[in-house]
Amino acid sequence: MLERLEELRARAIAEMEAAGDKAALESWRLAYLGRKGALTILLRSIGALPPEERRAAGAAGNQVKTDLETALERKRAALEAAARSTGEPPLDITLPGRAPTLGGLHPTTLMLRQICRAFTALGFQVVEGPEVEWDYYNFEALNIPKDHPARDMWSTFWMDFQNKAGERPMLLRTHTSPMQIRVMERARPPIRVVIPGRCYRYEATDATHESIFFQVEGLAVDQGITMADLKGTLYEFARRLFGPERRVRFRCDYFPFVEPGVEMAIDCFACGGSGCRLCSGSGWIEIMGAGMVHPKVLERVGYDPQVYTGFAFGLGLERIAMLQWGINDIRLFYSNDLRFLKQFKGVGQ
Ligand SMILES: [Zn+2]
Repeated sequence: MLERLEELRARAIAEMEAAGDKAALESWRLAYLGRKGALTILLRSIGALPPEERRAAGAAGNQVKTDLETALERKRAALEAAARSTGEPPLDITLPGRAPTLGGLHPTTLMLRQICRAFTALGFQVVEGPEVEWDYYNFEALNIPKDHPARDMWSTFWMDFQNKAGERPMLLRTHTSPMQIRVMERARPPIRVVIPGRCYRYEATDATHESIFFQVEGLAVDQGITMADLKGTLYEFARRLFGPERRVRFRCDYFPFVEPGVEMAIDCFACGGSGCRLCSGSGWIEIMGAGMVHPKVLERVGYDPQVYTGFAFGLGLERIAMLQWGINDIRLFYSNDLRFLKQFKGVGQ
């Protein structure tokens, strides 16, 4: 039996070498390895051998089968390589292609660009700052000392790091306002900047509150800047973002780092001011807080408040996006739900 196997192997290899194309190779495969192939029949006959011969014959038979299969694969690859080198097309380029899946921009990015574009057109420069901030910049320098009740307005994520006094002076910034101080420390007036960025608040989330959100802060400092400049700038911004027919309303509000402080609202674009669900029946929608930079804040960075004045403003980016696109839950922004995100594909950038 062993001799017959060896003889078959030699014959099969020689015949395979002679096969010149795929068709010849396929008939060779059927002749030896097919269901009625020579090797298959020979292997089947091993079962009829006496038990003492069966074991050795079985092992040898399987080895021959493996060798022939390996040789077949090698020959097949060689034939294909040869076909390629003779110019036979390797793939059919007339088949329609598969379109690549393209993503779109996140609604936050889209809104960020819209807002920054509106302000850069008004002469503002875009700057960014650190998200991990010192207590000094986030509170102290903004006229919010440790015992100030206004600190209650900012529920804060404190960093574990402690200074020698055992205080924890580092935090995740609760607003983009610290950059007002950083910008003024580095530059001299005139200053006109907008500062977009991520902020953090340690609070429970619901449809209008998220622990991570984006703010856009603005600051203008120069000689002779007045409340009229603040109103004119923000009015123009509102018209650029929400349409030229928008009206705006300013009302008194309180922020520790401005004096006086205002809250700015636009007339409701859904009902035109007559009152609806979007504006809670008031006809107005609040879009940001603003005010004249507090003299104490200017003094702290070494500006003479008798010479320089300025205004600052801050808005919640998601809130604006929610108004603009009719989104009813702020948590949708960062829950990575493609059903939500895909709706912004192709929105003007
Ligand atoms: Zn309305």
